[in-house]
Amino acid sequence: MTELLEQKESQSTELGRVSHWMGGQTVPGESGRSGAVYNPAKGAQTKTVDFASVEEVGRAVQAAKEAFATWRAVSLSKRQELFFEIRELVHTRKDEIAAILTEEHGKVMTDARGEVQRGLEVIEYACGIPTLLKGGFSEQASTGIDVYSIRQPLGVVAGITPFNFPAMVPMWMWAPAIACGNTFVLKPSEKDPSASNYVAELLKEAGLPDGVFNVVHGDKVAVDAILEHPDITAVSFVGSTPIARYIYETGTSKDKRVQALGGAKNHMIVLPDADIDMAADAAVSAAYGSAGERCMAISHVVAVGEAGDKLVEAIKERLPKIKVGDGSEPDVEMGPLVTREHRDKVASYLDSGPAQGATLVTDGRESSPDGDGFFLGVSLLDNVTPEMDAYKDEIFGPVLGISRVDTYDEAIRMVNENPYGNGTAIFTRDGGVARQFEFDVQAGMVGVNVPIPVPVAYYSFGGWKQSLFGDRHIYGPEGIDFYTRGKVVTSRWPDPATSKVDLGFPQTR
Ligand code: NAD
Repeated sequence: MTELLEQKESQSTELGRVSHWMGGQTVPGESGRSGAVYNPAKGAQTKTVDFASVEEVGRAVQAAKEAFATWRAVSLSKRQELFFEIRELVHTRKDEIAAILTEEHGKVMTDARGEVQRGLEVIEYACGIPTLLKGGFSEQASTGIDVYSIRQPLGVVAGITPFNFPAMVPMWMWAPAIACGNTFVLKPSEKDPSASNYVAELLKEAGLPDGVFNVVHGDKVAVDAILEHPDITAVSFVGSTPIARYIYETGTSKDKRVQALGGAKNHMIVLPDADIDMAADAAVSAAYGSAGERCMAISHVVAVGEAGDKLVEAIKERLPKIKVGDGSEPDVEMGPLVTREHRDKVASYLDSGPAQGATLVTDGRESSPDGDGFFLGVSLLDNVTPEMDAYKDEIFGPVLGISRVDTYDEAIRMVNENPYGNGTAIFTRDGGVARQFEFDVQAGMVGVNVPIPVPVAYYSFGGWKQSLFGDRHIYGPEGIDFYTRGKVVTSRWPDPATSKVDLGFPQTR
């Protein structure tokens, strides 16, 4: 660990290198291919990340395969003990992990700490693995015959993760997967890869056996090698919708179990009876937090009737107060976007939106901090309609769109006709309408006066429609289901003749 920290310090003066992690150690890449890692707040490259070849992915899978036989046999109580240790280490090193996230992703430190905390909650859930893997038992299903169900791990499983949550989303995957007895190969985003290596070191320090957790860095070559590898039994993916669809179709065609979470366009309906100040605070927090680079960000507000003018005014007056800058500075509230290309793409909607008829209420280009960082200030587009690109596309940046409609029915139709169905929220004081919304809305995660309804760790996370390909949501009970398969045993025994006396206190390990 000390070595890693020293390496991190030296990176401030020279270009660091991020390599693979296989079989419990750092393995420098040999493919000759690599990518650039930036500090988005400075707009400068800080590291290179090795890109794995097909053979290198194969080596990581081999390490995981070798570790599987021993790992799946480790008792549940030992796995639980280890997960308590992992929980403690991640908790203790939260600030170190958060600092890596801020440096490579750009999100502000409080947000980065929040990310680690939400990941930690999934690790805490995994600490309950002895309870989570309990099966069912039917005594005397037939005369002298008992029937029981057990859940067993799948083998080597893989995770492919996006840039926007470089620590939390991998935790959604590796924590339940490993707790269930699988071994894991992670392919993190090439844009912010270092947190995965840091966590790999922590897992080793906690006592996780070598080979149970492996990291390969790279691009499509590494992803395709994972999808093609016959020893990988399941793939979890989180990222954009086109790639999620590709992962699902390719992975399932290779007989793998796949859960592939895609992009989003999260709507927030505001009814005329809502508390407008509360709704405006929520919309601003949920739209611009993490510079809008959250799959659960509110990217579109549907204002019903007379809520519209008041809400736009209330949001508009909050925007100049948001401090944009380098996320490592303590009072900054919103950092840069992840790359220059992404920043420019997001900014392009500030031209196409008005050209297609929207009203540009606040232009973030006017408030972007100076310097080389990939900054874009907060923007507000009013009178957005479904045919506009600013509505059709997942902008994934600090641009909030507003549509005006006359009735609840029009608002719910708009949400349900959208191809995505990740998160959604309604703001109202009317419990009856809120209940009807829960009933009507076609989305996987619903907030009632809560703008970012990310489920707690003991429920599962996932969207509907083009926000999820596959039939199981991620983490929580469905995560345990995803990483195990069921077996039902039907059993009959003759009278036992093997018993013996043992006065020692019964042991579990
Ligand atoms: P992305 O789809 O570009 O990349 C995700 C992963 O796929 C990365 O590891 C990347 O290396 C890999 N990848 C990229 N292009 C590929 C290709 N052509 N073939 C194979 N693999 C490829 O996503 P991103 O830009 O890193 O992340 C942002 C997206 O992720 C947004 O769309 C966001 O909504 C989505 N996201 C969704 C959720 C969710 O829970 N639904 C959560 C976080 C992020």
